[in-house]
Amino acid sequence: MPEEVTMQSALIVVDVQNDFCPGGSLAVAGGDAVATRISRWIESGNDYHLVVATMDSHPRPDPTQPFPHFSDHPDYMRTWPPHCIEGTCGARLHRNLRLPPSAVVVRKGQEAAAYSGFAGHDDHGVSLAENLQRERIGAVDIVGLATDYCVKATAMDARAHGLAVRVFADMVAGVSLGSSGRALDELRNAGIVVETSIDGSRSRPE
Ligand SMILES: [Zn+2]
Repeated sequence: MPEEVTMQSALIVVDVQNDFCPGGSLAVAGGDAVATRISRWIESGNDYHLVVATMDSHPRPDPTQPFPHFSDHPDYMRTWPPHCIEGTCGARLHRNLRLPPSAVVVRKGQEAAAYSGFAGHDDHGVSLAENLQRERIGAVDIVGLATDYCVKATAMDARAHGLAVRVFADMVAGVSLGSSGRALDELRNAGIVVETSIDGSRSRPE
């Protein structure tokens, strides 16, 4: 007898934190508007089995322990101004982002730069991949910041984990338009569906 396949879906909200929104140390234009759109999307009755929020979470700068992810002269490709330092306001999720109480928060970047949410763990030390596996998640929708870095890395890793992946182009924002456009092309080439949330609600399998 064929085993019954139940494919649950999850929403992964990537790094919608103050430092990546206008006013933050590494602001992405439109990050706050993305936060609002994600909240509306969640509240409009999208029935995800699991909602995960990833957070960049870095140690305080310490002169005795260089942290190569940060630089006073960042190139905005490999090095960045200090951001999302644990315990600071900049590290908090943006106030426009409203998550369900059941949402799982996954933090990454404590030891080194970590662009993908799959490098992160929840408060119990459980990885993002394990969280998805134990809820039998087969498909993920990915939204958040920034398109060309952490959204891209998280989506590529989700694909590498064998998940069906969609990225909603109207609920992401990037560091630069050029690299964000290239990132979305790379995602499409990897078999990831890139569409708007309006198309997504039409095509959503029930
Ligand atoms: Zn970082």
